[in-house]
Amino acid sequence: MEESPIKKSYYQKEPVKCPVCKASFQKEEMLSGRGRLIAKDITDELRRVYEPGKKAGETYPLIYPVTVCPDCFYSAYPEDFQLIKSDSIPAALSQKEKRKRDINLIFPIVGFRKARNLITGTASHILAVGCYSFQHKECAPTFKKAMSTLRTAWLFDDLNKRYPGQNYDRIRIIMYKKAMNYYERTINYAQTGEERIDAVKHFGPDLDKNYGFEGVLFMSTLLLFKYGDQGSNEQIIQKLQKAKRIVSRIFGMGKSSKSKPSFILELAKNLYKKITTKIAELKEE
Ligand SMILES: [Zn+2]
Repeated sequence: MEESPIKKSYYQKEPVKCPVCKASFQKEEMLSGRGRLIAKDITDELRRVYEPGKKAGETYPLIYPVTVCPDCFYSAYPEDFQLIKSDSIPAALSQKEKRKRDINLIFPIVGFRKARNLITGTASHILAVGCYSFQHKECAPTFKKAMSTLRTAWLFDDLNKRYPGQNYDRIRIIMYKKAMNYYERTINYAQTGEERIDAVKHFGPDLDKNYGFEGVLFMSTLLLFKYGDQGSNEQIIQKLQKAKRIVSRIFGMGKSSKSKPSFILELAKNLYKKITTKIAELKEE
């Protein structure tokens, strides 16, 4: 991957100590000033689009947020990195080679001692999804898996544009379907209390805006609508009806609340209409 002429990141002075293998490393952070990031629209999937900068070229903010130990590849978002359960550490350590083997099936060469690029940034999310199985319930691990899997799908879209013909488009679809399942599970767990989500500070799904739990409900519905098309007509209709119930919860949530961006309310209403039309079409078939 070619190097861009201007610096896109820096390293934190304070080293991070990996709770799994005890290695010390410096965390890389993105630099966003001086025309490096030119924000454009937000997609239907609530992803922010950036225009390439004149000097900086393409910048992918999503390649930076996950902390990865360069030694054992244990990965998590910074706020969770040190919170791994102590009784999970031996298992997490024993899977060091497995983590590397698994990621090498998708990307044959991956290292985290150099500045991040689109490949290592994508890998960081895949690794995080695996490692959240070792985290406490209080970290909302299923939600973190959902968000990182969705971000992985987005990054595979970027990869496919940059390196076409590598099957990255197919992996992208697999990731969307996985994200659909994780989002659905996140909502179920929140309902049953199996995994609380009150401690989550940033629901994303992208970095620059936080759509709160409404965003989670919206993403779950959208993914069911776009990628829940397997099975018989009957099964798809059932899935879509479930999606409708989920998205309609956004309408009912604190109507006068200032915290709720009307933007997402509008998107939710449109999506509700689209799903209703789709169900009617399927019933006619
Ligand atoms: Zn480590």
